Parts: sequence; C-alpha cells; structure tokens
Amino acid sequence: MMMNKAKITRKLQHEREVVRDMIALYCRNNHGTKQLCDKCRELAEYADQRTLKCPFMAEKSFCSQCKVHCYKPEMRERIRQVMRYSGPRMIFHHPIAALRHLYYTQIEKLNSNK
Ligand SMILES: [Zn+2]
Repeated sequence: MMMNKAKITRKLQHEREVVRDMIALYCRNNHGTKQLCDKCRELAEYADQRTLKCPFMAEKSFCSQCKVHCYKPEMRERIRQVMRYSGPRMIFHHPIAALRHLYYTQIEKLNSNK
C-alpha cells in the first residue's frame, strides 16, 4: 500500500496527537495531575521523537503495532501500559481516532497472519 507524502504527513500528525492524548488521559487518571507529570512528559517527548524519526511511517499503522520495536525496553513497557489503559477509553474522547486505531490494528493483524 503506497501513500503519498501529504497522507503520510497527516498520519504522522494524527499519530502524534493520539499518542499525546493517550498519555494525557493515562496521567490524569492514574497520577492525578492536571498536566503531565514529569515521567509522563518524558514519555510523551520520547514517543514524539520516535514517531518523527520513524522510517516506516508510510507502511506501518501505529507504533504500538509496529514490528520494528524502536522503543527502548523501559519506554516500551511504559507506552504499553498507557495504550492498555487509554486505548479502550479513547472511544469516548476521540471516537474517530479510536475507530481508526481499531481499523489499523485489524489490518495489521490480518497482514501478520499471512
Ligand atoms: Zn503521569
């Protein structure tokens, strides 16, 4: 599946937004902070950098589904916790984004079952 540059840029922006929102939601409900706590801010910045540097943006869906695990183990574990918590809850905050995430997840699953 080929994507043009405009589409990739849109997807990149979208992924950054969703990841940021997921971390914010996680932090608010688990760390009881109004703004991101230091640890979550660190994670958000890290995730943002990984997304920006990702050479597979054109092919893959979301970092959480990516087979090339570019996150270092500690950050990976943290982002997984965030995804596990915020993923199902995003449907109320970001219905379109959550549906799209589900959609990409399904596509990814289909592809990896080949
Ligand atoms: Zn936090």
